[in-house]
Amino acid sequence: MSASGLCELCSINEVVDGCDRCGRLVCETHYDEETGLCTDCLKQAKEGDGERPRQDPDRPDGVDTYEF
Ligand SMILES: [Zn+2]
Ligand SMILES: [Zn+2]
Repeated sequence: MSASGLCELCSINEVVDGCDRCGRLVCETHYDEETGLCTDCLKQAKEGDGERPRQDPDRPDGVDTYEF
């Protein structure tokens, strides 16, 4: 097999597989075998999948009005 081309995320390493989500061809470093996603999609999938982060990093520190 000749997987020619460079990773679309880093443009440095050779492509090993394509992301199941965005279809980009990525290198070993940027491909997660467990999920079949590139690291980019992996991040997004984690962020948008069910659990939401409790704290919004964009908010200033003073906002503390949650009732828990
Ligand atoms: Zn890469
Ligand atoms: Zn992807």
